Amino acid sequence: MTELQDLYQELILDHGRRPRNFKALGSANRSAEGYNPLCGDKVKIYVEIDGNTVKDLSFEGSGCAISTASASIMTETLKGKTRAEAEELFQAFHDLVTGRQVRIDAPDLGKLEVFSGVSEFPVRVKCATLSWHTLRAALNDEGEVVSTE
Ligand code: ZN
Repeated sequence: MTELQDLYQELILDHGRRPRNFKALGSANRSAEGYNPLCGDKVKIYVEIDGNTVKDLSFEGSGCAISTASASIMTETLKGKTRAEAEELFQAFHDLVTGRQVRIDAPDLGKLEVFSGVSEFPVRVKCATLSWHTLRAALNDEGEVVSTE
């Protein structure tokens, strides 16, 4: 393990244990639920959309450290972003965790970089992307439960 991998591991464990924005959001005007049957991860994402801006977001649920940390870091990253920026970040994040080349013009992933190691564990990709798929459903106002299957 390199030092960087250790650091990444630590951040994931930290967010897994003490998730940020882990609550129901009273001001939310969108929400969606997601389920990853492969691992048993469940998540509910709350979003307050103001025009085209993600004004605030939060999540609740239960799952493995990777799914919880991913939701936690996602909520931190997307607060204040536009819908288009959120979608671009999702694309870049998806490329990162599936081991594809992240596009050169992609937005800066910031803390989301810590999930780069997930690409070596294909079964974990769904844990890492569950909250993002669920967020997309919330933004698109699809009222159904998202399943990664
Ligand atoms: Zn999981």
